[in-house]
Amino acid sequence: MTALMNTYGTPAEGFSHGKGAYLYDNNDQRFLDAISGIGVNALGHAHPAVSEAIKDQADKLIHTSNLYSIEKQQLLAEALHRVSGMDNVFFGNSGAEANEAAIKIARLYGHQHGIENPHIVVMESAFHGRTIATLSASGNSKIQTGFGPLVSGFIRVPYGDLTALEALTSNQEVVAVFMEPLQGEAGVNVLPSGFLKSVRTLCDNNSWLMMLDEVQTGNGRTGAYFAYQHEGILPDIVATAKGLGNGVPIGACLAHGKAASVFGPGNHGSTFGGNPLCSAAALAVVETIETDELCSHAATLGEYMLTAFKEQLADTDQVADIRGKGLMIGIELKQPCAELVHAIRERGVLINVASGNVIRMLPPLIIDQQQADTIIAAVTAAIKAFAQPS
Ligand code: PLP
Repeated sequence: MTALMNTYGTPAEGFSHGKGAYLYDNNDQRFLDAISGIGVNALGHAHPAVSEAIKDQADKLIHTSNLYSIEKQQLLAEALHRVSGMDNVFFGNSGAEANEAAIKIARLYGHQHGIENPHIVVMESAFHGRTIATLSASGNSKIQTGFGPLVSGFIRVPYGDLTALEALTSNQEVVAVFMEPLQGEAGVNVLPSGFLKSVRTLCDNNSWLMMLDEVQTGNGRTGAYFAYQHEGILPDIVATAKGLGNGVPIGACLAHGKAASVFGPGNHGSTFGGNPLCSAAALAVVETIETDELCSHAATLGEYMLTAFKEQLADTDQVADIRGKGLMIGIELKQPCAELVHAIRERGVLINVASGNVIRMLPPLIIDQQQADTIIAAVTAAIKAFAQPS
């Protein structure tokens, strides 16, 4: 009997503590964490800058609400402006909440321009969260089934299909395109280079908002602070969360240009959003990613890992594809492979499996080359053992 609702099935054995890229179980056995709490612990575990910021802030002030100005929230907003090029930000507590803000901005933007029934274009296989609006925007029937009626106002096109997007230019109700720059939950799906730039142009030509869900790809994960920076563009809206707080719950919806002035007083809010404790932790994260140059580190190490996997798994028939960007790496097998989570853990490394057959790695940005080699060796050996005909 457990007093927890059964939303996660039976979880695997947990951990007592962590340090850097390692987690330790109750028997003090060490595991190299190549999943980072699903892309959250970008700076690893017990990072001194984050721990100190939390301890220091907790001793002073945890929460006051947004009725009062919050110094650390202001500083965090300025830091995010600096690393993103976006104009301003709204803080919530999770990825779904950051996306909710984005959806609300798009709808209000539509209404402000006389569009009574605004529609947002979303992608097949997208994952935007588990609230009613974000699961409606998601392109995964598994997370929608049983929760109807879904929120209307979304038009879905295949991920990476520019022609399908272009076909919507005659639809006067479209106000925005909302998408992940790389799809994480769907199995690390990578867009062709230049795609985001084309979406930017399409949005500019049609007065659509370009809205990116960088909940998973943000905060250095793909080797740039945000994935759109690889293409030298600026979206109108960026939602982020996960790595931003390194484990402290915080989400952010950043806006630029015309999108930055859509919300006014009373349009949106969140009791905990950007409170002193979460803001202090996130500020330490953003500053550490900057000062330790973790974006370029993630780019270099990610390229190294991708190349190594491609070389070492070249002759493994069961591997369908190896892809990713920065430290967001997926190895697609030709068959379901959920059991590899356990097999790779037995080899001392933690990963997860996305979409049933994609080994997903989201290691902390702080891993070094030796740790990358340990991940490569464990994952490669487990795939080869799994792939061997019995
Ligand atoms: N958007 C993306 C791209 C995600 O990967 C996730 C979580 O995996 C979410 C949104 C939802 O974030 P949260 O679980 O913090 O609500």
